[in-house]
This record gives sequence, structure tokens and C-alpha cells, in this order.
Amino acid sequence: MSTAVSRGTSPVPPARQPRLTVLSGPSGVGKSTVVAHMRKAHPEVWLSVSATTRKPRPGEQDGVQYFFVDDEEFDKLIANGELLEWAEFAGNRYGTPRQAVLDRLEAGEPVLLEIDLQGARQVRETMPEAQLVFLAPPSWDELVRRLTGRGTESPEVIERRLAAAKVELAAESEFDVTLVNTSVEDVARELLALLR
Ligand code: ADP
Ligand code: 5GP
Repeated sequence: MSTAVSRGTSPVPPARQPRLTVLSGPSGVGKSTVVAHMRKAHPEVWLSVSATTRKPRPGEQDGVQYFFVDDEEFDKLIANGELLEWAEFAGNRYGTPRQAVLDRLEAGEPVLLEIDLQGARQVRETMPEAQLVFLAPPSWDELVRRLTGRGTESPEVIERRLAAAKVELAAESEFDVTLVNTSVEDVARELLALLR
């Protein structure tokens, strides 16, 4: 008698775990543009809103792009264990509020974080099941053009961000998937497919 199919071991696939996806890539590559494009068509996709000590750019609103906080408030978030990960990037601190992410995952909803390389590495350590997606520029020159062309940073800050970009580009192989941001439409579609 075969025991292979006994005790109700019917071929029911295991329940799919809600997915945590991290999107990283050098400053100016187009992460925000791609995510905004995807969420315009799919507003149901939930994106974590980070806390930052960076000053808002024109048009940025507190609680929408970021929670804008001062150094003291950021220190408190760290001290109270309220951040899932955090990093200093080009002179400012950025962190992911932990509870909102855990609530979404608990509710079975996919979660998207748009964070830097240092944050992606922390998430890989604490949540090894997370999916890490790297957004790469079509070329170095195009990255410089986009970052400069955005016109939101001083030349000094652009230099700091380009120095960070060299480190981030060298870490591409640490990620599960690379998407090259040639076409915003194409990348937004590919990212949406990865989230589901
Ligand atoms: P990040 O969020 O990665 O720092 P942004 O989304 O702010 O980058 O994009 C930087 C600049 O590059 C913006 O001016 C944006 O309009 C432009 N950009 C983004 N994606 C593309 C693309 N595929 N082709 C051309 N320009 C792009
Ligand atoms: P920006 O100042 O251009 O909005 O963001 C600068 C960098 O910080 C980007 O690479 C962005 O992905 C990253 N970033 C934004 N929020 C977070 C966060 O919560 N944690 C980490 N580690 N990086 C973040």
C-alpha cells in the first residue's frame, strides 16, 4: 500500500506570504517617478512613507512623500525602536516606520519600500524573505543628466549623491532583480508584476 497520499496530503499549495519588496537604486535614477507612475494606475499599491531629516523640496507635503522631522524627533524614533531600518544618506537621515509595514503584512497586503542601499541591506538581515529590486540607469551619463536635470539639489549635494551612486551601482549583484529604467512605463509594469 502506498502511503504517499495518506493523511490528507492533497496538493494544496502553501498559502502565499504577503510580500515585502524593497526598491533601491542611485539617487536620480527615477525611483519616485516609476513608483508614482505605477500608483497613478494602481493607487491600491501601498508604499511606506519614510521619516527624514531632509528639508522638503518644493511641492513635497508632510505625510505624503515623507514625514519631515528634525534631528531630535529622529533620535526619538530610533531610541523608541520605531524604525524598521534607517540610514544616513548624503547628509540627512531617513528611516522606515516599523508598525505601518508590519500592519500591512499582517493584513496580507504587499508592501513596497523605496529606500537606499544601506536600508536594503538592513531589511535583508531582518527580513530575509524580502524581495530586493535594484533600479539601474541606462548609463552613468544618463544618471548624471537626470540628477542634475531634476534641479532640486545644489552642486555640492549632487556631488555627494553621485559619490553614493558609485557605491550603490557596485552593489547591484546583492539584489534579487535588476530593472533598467529606460522607459518609465515598462519599469512600472515590471515592478507591479513583481509586487503581486
Ligand atoms: P529618484 O527618486 O531615483 O531620486 P526621480 O524619480 O526624482 O529619481 O527622477 C530623477 C529625474 O529623472 C526626474 O527629473 C525624472 O523626471 C527623470 N526620469 C525618471 N525616469 C526617467 C526615464 N525613464 N527617462 C528619462 N527621465 C527620467
Ligand atoms: P531623497 O532625498 O532623494 O528623497 O532620497 C535620498 C535617498 O534616501 C534615496 O536613495 C531614497 O531611496 C532613500 N530613502 C528614502 N527613504 C528612506 C528610508 O526610509 N530609509 C532608507 N534607508 N533610505 C531611504
